[in-house]
Amino acid sequence: MPKRPRPRKRGAGKLEARAASILRAAPTAADRPTRAEAEGAVRTLIRWAGDDPDREGLAETPARVARAYDEFFEGYGLDPAEVLRRTFEETEGYDELVLLRDVRFESTCEHHMVPIVGRAHIGYLPNQRVVGISKLARVVEIYARRLQMQEKMTAQIANTIDEVLKPKGVAVVLEAEHQCLTTRGAHKPGASMVTSRMLGEFRDNPTTRREFLALIGKNGVS
Ligand SMILES: [Zn+2]
Repeated sequence: MPKRPRPRKRGAGKLEARAASILRAAPTAADRPTRAEAEGAVRTLIRWAGDDPDREGLAETPARVARAYDEFFEGYGLDPAEVLRRTFEETEGYDELVLLRDVRFESTCEHHMVPIVGRAHIGYLPNQRVVGISKLARVVEIYARRLQMQEKMTAQIANTIDEVLKPKGVAVVLEAEHQCLTTRGAHKPGASMVTSRMLGEFRDNPTTRREFLALIGKNGVS
């Protein structure tokens, strides 16, 4: 009599699910739908909204939306770590806080696919190397131009700076308005969400963290 397969250990399924989700997260060029398929999907959503995709005003809309997506989601084709690779080492030993405040970003909520609009503040304590300040803004932009959760984006920005520049510390604070909160559901216009990620000295040293938070006008956050 053939043996019944043994019941799987609980952890195994989880691991498999995680492996599958990693594979799904990296679509190949072959998985990418054609532009015509993307436009067809927009036509479907127009009909789902209750309108006629063939009426005059909407005729070009699927093509426009597909082109807009190229822009909203250009971050998938770009490598934020690559942006930070070009660093400067002749800093005369500068090892104080470098701070970039109020980097406006526009992202897209991965749960509702509506805009998240906000500002990022980034600080780091250099360790021999500094990077052009525009490169930090570029890292924010690359991560913003993907489907996002604000918490995830905050961690991604901080982790990338930490891994590539290897500074003594990194601090990232994002504050943003989520249209999924302001224009639907709870309808809370004006509400903004603040997230932060502190690494190295900013995490370990309260004085350094306070200096950063004071400089970005966020003394209440810790
Ligand atoms: Zn949302």
